[in-house]
Amino acid sequence: MIRNFRDLTRYEMEQVDRENTIVLIPLGALEQHGSQAPLGTDDIIAEAMVAEIRRQLELEDPDFPMMLFPVIPLGLSTEHKHFCGTVTLRPETYYNLLYDTAVSLSRHGFKKLAFLICHGGNAPVVQVLSRELRSELGISPFFLSSGAFGHPDVQATVSEGNIWDFHGGEMETSMVMAVDESLVKLELSEPGIPTAFINNTALKTGGACSIGWVSEDWKTVDGKPIGIGGDPRGATAEKGRIIIETSAKVLISGLKEIRDWKV
Ligand SMILES: [Zn+2]
Repeated sequence: MIRNFRDLTRYEMEQVDRENTIVLIPLGALEQHGSQAPLGTDDIIAEAMVAEIRRQLELEDPDFPMMLFPVIPLGLSTEHKHFCGTVTLRPETYYNLLYDTAVSLSRHGFKKLAFLICHGGNAPVVQVLSRELRSELGISPFFLSSGAFGHPDVQATVSEGNIWDFHGGEMETSMVMAVDESLVKLELSEPGIPTAFINNTALKTGGACSIGWVSEDWKTVDGKPIGIGGDPRGATAEKGRIIIETSAKVLISGLKEIRDWKV
């Protein structure tokens, strides 16, 4: 059965098979996503993704053992911190927030945690955390990447010529539109390109030589820092629905592996 963690009473929680129930913890962020998409884009996508996972899973397997934790609305957004509206935790604050959350869940007997990463900047912290928690507490902290951006059905939604689509681009903007079109001001869209890396193959592909990028690396064609990658102008709600449905399908196969994982 899939339930919202916060809806249960203490008594109901005591009855849960906590050893085998997955706690799905969606990790959002509050950060700039260009002039066209809301600051809460990652949180909005996180909620939509979890709702779609639930919808698909309940049709397939109503007994699927999972608790949905509330979306953690702030994350590590250092790369965007100079753009207006971004609110970031420091890496150590974010690490400790997630660490303390996991320790609390472990104290009550939960063994399978699934961090759903809905903002790429959170990923390095979660990777470190997963290993530390596993080694210290003997629990199984998995992490899943929310958007199946490389999936052919998702790639097929991206407009021709939009080769840099990434943060705040067509795909993310489409997903917000699938939730609520009134949150997107598509007429303010401008494409962003990674000017700092455009002639540098090693950096661009994350090869042997790499650097942590900041949002200012992404500029408009006339050189204005814009902090988004790709061209949101082709975004539509229908594309967003395809991306969310496809991503949820991919995530469900991961969640089934977590269910079958022996701690
Ligand atoms: Zn985002």
